[in-house]
Amino acid sequence: MSDTRKLRTTLVHGGARRSQYGEVSEAMFLTQGFVYDSAEQAEARFVKAGPDEFIYARYGNPTVRMFEDRMAAITGYEDAFATASGMAAVNGALMALLKAGDHVVSSRALFGSCLYVLEDVLARFGVEITLVDGTDNAAWDAAIRPDTTLVFLEAISNPTLEVIDLAHVVEVAHRNGAKVIVDDAMATPIYSYAAACGADLCVISTTKHVDGQGRMLGGVVCGTRETIRGPIESYLKHTGAALNPFSAWVHLKSLDTLDLRVRAQSGAAMQIAEALEGHPKLKAVRYPQLPSHPQHKVAMTQAASGGTVLSIEIDGDREACFRFFNALEIFTISNNFADSKSIATHPATTTHQRLPQEQKDILGITPGLVRVSIGLEDPEDLLADLRQALDAV
Ligand SMILES: *Cc1c(COP(=O)(O)O)cnc(C)c1O
Repeated sequence: MSDTRKLRTTLVHGGARRSQYGEVSEAMFLTQGFVYDSAEQAEARFVKAGPDEFIYARYGNPTVRMFEDRMAAITGYEDAFATASGMAAVNGALMALLKAGDHVVSSRALFGSCLYVLEDVLARFGVEITLVDGTDNAAWDAAIRPDTTLVFLEAISNPTLEVIDLAHVVEVAHRNGAKVIVDDAMATPIYSYAAACGADLCVISTTKHVDGQGRMLGGVVCGTRETIRGPIESYLKHTGAALNPFSAWVHLKSLDTLDLRVRAQSGAAMQIAEALEGHPKLKAVRYPQLPSHPQHKVAMTQAASGGTVLSIEIDGDREACFRFFNALEIFTISNNFADSKSIATHPATTTHQRLPQEQKDILGITPGLVRVSIGLEDPEDLLADLRQALDAV
């Protein structure tokens, strides 16, 4: 693949392989195994499989490989390993690189399951975890030590949309010999800056923008060929996190339209965020592209857009907030984001319910906080729906 090609071309053609039939659309290889011409060939392939040689679908599959190569090409990394879900990618990346006695520094505002892997799973295996306020550069400087192995963070946090100064964190981590893993679900692969900022690995829940139509779970770990085809592949292929070929095929089809969808959804998110700012029923509208966002400057140096999700804080208690939810007509009440259907989520009672109150307070997950994921509907209709539901507050 020539690297002079632009993103939109790579989204449609990257990683594609044709079988002997010359099919136009990427083929779906629904096969778990592969046959060999001879015993000698089987033996040779187990010694070392070439780039287009497969052994078993838990290790790799042609459809999955097309998806991995396309994801690597669009994120700016050399290689990628696809997984059954975003969490399989997060867990796999951490487990593959860490051992007992290691020290990990992570931002505190994390997706709930990521926090579970760090605090409950890794801690059981003797990995020391330090959590910091990701927006505070001095906190990173103080927490990252010469014996720190790994730094983990969400570039844009969920649901409060805090933006981390990634270039700064990568610089401090590398100066101390630590690797950086960015969980990049919220930033979207279109506006991702993990590779540009020098993050060693980028893990993406492809359940979010890549599928983007509410059908598939999937994930991917992106990095250098040495790391991906080394420790990451070894861990993932032996522990069973493989993405299935059907999901990989749907993901490939979805990538054709990823740029169009993400740009349309992000543009609408900005339009809606601007229109809602200052609304009398709202205490705050948070969206990285709004100049009022606390990390607006950093956010705009890193990416050209604020993404497809905003958060609003209703001036009222849980009951007032529930009146808003129950009055919505176009927005669905659900807990995913980045779907073509617009979604409203109440983090305090759903996705972040498990967190103790003091954690919720630290993270700003108040009873009035609503995560608003903007889909592909007409932005005027979405704005009208939000406004009429706010009237019900
Ligand atoms: C959704 C999400 C995950 C987990 O992805 P799944 O595909 O649901 O397993 C991990 N990190 C972040 C930031 C997410 O938004």
